[in-house]
Amino acid sequence: MYSREIKQKQVIIKEGEKGSHMYVSAQGRYEVSVKGKGVVNTFEDIRVFGEMAILYNDKRNATIKAVKPGRVWVLDRTVYQKLMIRFNIKEQDEMLEFLEKVPKLNKVSPEALQKVVNLLKVKYFSPGTTIVKQGERGDKFYIIRAGTVTITKEGEGVVGNYGKGQFFGELALLKEEFRQATVTADAPGGVECLTLKRQHFIAHFGELREDGILTVQTSSSPAKVSKIVKEHQDVELKDLNIVTTLGVGGFGRVELVQHKTQNIIFALKYLKKIDMVEQNQQEHVYNERNIQMDCRSQFIVRLYRSYKDSKYIYFLMESCLGGDLWTLLQRQKTRRFDEKDSRFIAACVLEAFAYLHEKGIVYRDLKPENLLIDEQGYIKLTDFGFAKKLGSRGRTFTFAGTPEYVAPEIILSRGHDKAVDYWAYGIFIFELLTGRTPFRTNDASHMRTYNKILTGIDSVDFPSFVSTKARNVIEKLCKAIPAERLGCQRNGVQDIKNHRWFLGFDWVKLNERRLSAPFKPKLKSNTDTRYFEAFKKDTDYPPDETSGWDVNF
Ligand code: ATP
Ligand code: MG
Repeated sequence: MYSREIKQKQVIIKEGEKGSHMYVSAQGRYEVSVKGKGVVNTFEDIRVFGEMAILYNDKRNATIKAVKPGRVWVLDRTVYQKLMIRFNIKEQDEMLEFLEKVPKLNKVSPEALQKVVNLLKVKYFSPGTTIVKQGERGDKFYIIRAGTVTITKEGEGVVGNYGKGQFFGELALLKEEFRQATVTADAPGGVECLTLKRQHFIAHFGELREDGILTVQTSSSPAKVSKIVKEHQDVELKDLNIVTTLGVGGFGRVELVQHKTQNIIFALKYLKKIDMVEQNQQEHVYNERNIQMDCRSQFIVRLYRSYKDSKYIYFLMESCLGGDLWTLLQRQKTRRFDEKDSRFIAACVLEAFAYLHEKGIVYRDLKPENLLIDEQGYIKLTDFGFAKKLGSRGRTFTFAGTPEYVAPEIILSRGHDKAVDYWAYGIFIFELLTGRTPFRTNDASHMRTYNKILTGIDSVDFPSFVSTKARNVIEKLCKAIPAERLGCQRNGVQDIKNHRWFLGFDWVKLNERRLSAPFKPKLKSNTDTRYFEAFKKDTDYPPDETSGWDVNF
């Protein structure tokens, strides 16, 4: 942090503006005001303000102004994020080091151990607490991270003391055994332990053999190498006529286009380059293009090729004339889908996720707006703006996603992986069934939404029409600890498919397109756009953008 002098009447943060700094008041007196309400508070003490900006580049929800000269400490968002990344990596490395010293685990491959790290929970025991008791059944293994413990045995008294990096209860990983000693946390500081539950360990790795070798392969099966067929590579921009506009998004538009000489239609998405550069989206656009173009799944909108000129970037995609799922949801009389229809939609999305995760890609932006309905009423995922291929560490740190769907670990900048997609999947099923997301608030800033997300799914009221099975699958997906989520364990998505909410669902028929879809669009021709809103013609004429970042497009 750095210190900054503040003048009288100086505005430090302004309501509605995007912020990238957090502050701590050191001296002075400050006034908090909100549009329409005037001054709502003043303070003179040392306090933190503007902290949401360092988690998420959100708009400020109040104005803070100095009443008299003062001084504040400032923290930049980028600095904070770098620190969090460094801190997390350091913490993980330390845990890994601990695990490597455990004899029962030293034959486990480094990649698998990295996964074990994700299952560890931090637990504090105050002085005098009995952590394990001789004679009781044990289901947990402990590593000491800080502090010390005393080991005692009946009839023998104290038999030893353990400190940092030492561990106990490791037999519990092998089988449910009676504890052979009692372990107590020492004064004065108590002890902080990393704990691993046998049940979680088995859910991820299967049984551990006596010789310490895992019986089950943990790395997901190598991606099936299928020859990637490329189509429509010879279609050029000049060959296309615009029929009408299908959608207007954050950065550009999507047009329905028709080939001038062949009877084929496409959706052409185009984005203003100047906006991309101003909002620093270059990397996102490259990700979006590269990832979506590599996907070959009937549950993902096909991207055939991309173009560029001096003003725009273009994506040539398959068109889905059934419209988007958000619009369909709004058009339901009840503003929600029944259980059977929700299951069909959710199943399509699950197949899309299974495909992406197999390729090591996290999607990170599941919501009804990003799902389209094709001519047969099947659901397809699109908009890969937040998608990311994970590197060897298998984690990523930057904030991404839509507030109501983000997982707790994203809010906490803990580093995240594909587990965030299963969290969002739980939120999404809730939304299909009820017409709203579980953590929504009517707060324009996302602060309260994030607070609710961190409070957890257990404090959400489920409407009574949501069945027990549905509620159960949602709760299992929206577990606060990523490694505990359904879909994130040894059997991957199969655990979700096996859940009783999907009982009797015919996955084979779905994949063969033999299930009849609940919302098959009724179309008159291949240019019928009745499922889309009408949009005004694009009258914008953006300036050229010629910095050259798009050479590889
Ligand atoms: P945002 O950033 O606001 O999410 P975006 O600019 O990334 O939007 P998309 O989400 O890809 O754009 O598309 C915007 C809308 O255009 C969609 O909600 C949908 O209505 C329509 N649309 C996009 N792609 C297609 C397609 N292949 N076929 C039919 N309609 C489409
Ligand atoms: Mg979108």
